[in-house]
Amino acid sequence: MDHKKEDKNICINCEERLTDIHNLHNLTKEEQELLNRPKRVLTVSIPVRMDDGEVKVFNGYRVQYNNALGPTKGGIRYHEDVDLEEVKVLAFLMSLKTALAGIPFGGAKGGIEVNPDELSKGELERLTRGFVKEIYKFIGPHLDIPAPDVNTNAQIMAWFVDEYSDIVGEFTPGVVTGKPLILGGSEGRELATSLGGAFVLKRFVENFGDKKENLSVAIQGFGNVGMNIAKILDDWGYKVVAVSNSRGGIFDQNGINIKDLIEKMADTRDFPSGFGKEISNDDLLLLDVDVLIPAALSNQITKDNADEIKAKIILEMANAPITKEADQILEKNNVEVIPDILANAGGVIVSYLEWVQNSENYYWKEKEVNEKLKEIIESAFDKVMNLRKEKDLNNIRNASYILAVNRILEAERLRGTLG
Ligand code: GLU
Repeated sequence: MDHKKEDKNICINCEERLTDIHNLHNLTKEEQELLNRPKRVLTVSIPVRMDDGEVKVFNGYRVQYNNALGPTKGGIRYHEDVDLEEVKVLAFLMSLKTALAGIPFGGAKGGIEVNPDELSKGELERLTRGFVKEIYKFIGPHLDIPAPDVNTNAQIMAWFVDEYSDIVGEFTPGVVTGKPLILGGSEGRELATSLGGAFVLKRFVENFGDKKENLSVAIQGFGNVGMNIAKILDDWGYKVVAVSNSRGGIFDQNGINIKDLIEKMADTRDFPSGFGKEISNDDLLLLDVDVLIPAALSNQITKDNADEIKAKIILEMANAPITKEADQILEKNNVEVIPDILANAGGVIVSYLEWVQNSENYYWKEKEVNEKLKEIIESAFDKVMNLRKEKDLNNIRNASYILAVNRILEAERLRGTLG
């Protein structure tokens, strides 16, 4: 890695992605300079008293990438592979995601380098409260609003609200989203990422797909997002033939009984027997299916396996599951990729709706939330597809990037940051 650039607060991977946009769209030097580095980066160390009495110190990060369109917004992940450069890229992608969705937020991301499976509930709570103590001055309903991401959930957001409210001296539910319903969460938030992805896929298939019915689907990742999109697509008549996670997976050419499987996996991440052939997380990616849905971690489709992908459509429900080199191979092979910043925007869209409800202190029914989500995400999808047609762009990712970057730059110009 180029440490000089890292020291200068450049986001190396963001810079590479921006070069692609620049090649298509001619960004000025000023615009590139503004966009290839985060606005603010926080690196903190969090001392936690463990159950055995020892103190362990964890590394935490919060990157607030761009705030031209409003307070920064984005999840916090707990994972042993979290590092600053990755958090920067994910914060950059959040800035594009909120801009593309047309919601009044900038983009951020945070993370703690930890394997949460190794912590007790008490340790996890103390770690979360410790993180809030380190970053509270830089977050708030009109400043930066965290949310769940990989390995974080509504309980962790509840501790977040409690700690922040204690520090500032008043109940402040709008400081995070993805909260439990009883503490100011929104109906529909738990399902939102998956439902948003399903709306986008359906619209794509109906308007642009060669085959419209009985599409076969393989899903990598069976956490909140993977499980719920499996359930929704199964309900809508798609044939989910394979699902997997880091511990294993299942494949049945005739379609898996998703409802029974989800019931059996309520308290475990191990796949039960009797639902189909065993399959690994890696093999799932190469199945001959109509739709492939990576819904786990980043960098799953790389230059080493991209050429072997047989799916015709990839719906990126994870953030950044396809590397840049792999993207080029997929494009050459005519695989349509619906990019993360569009496909998984449902989560942050309903986070926005949660934040609005917190501001008004008035709460909507699930039907109302889902209708608004559908309207917002379909409108973003239509804008992307129109721009792709208008500019004759090779892929949906570039069209999405251009739309998002244009919105951010317009706000920067109006605010006077750019000339
Ligand atoms: N972590 C989710 C994402 O990557 C949701 C972020 C949010 O709701 O702020 O989009």
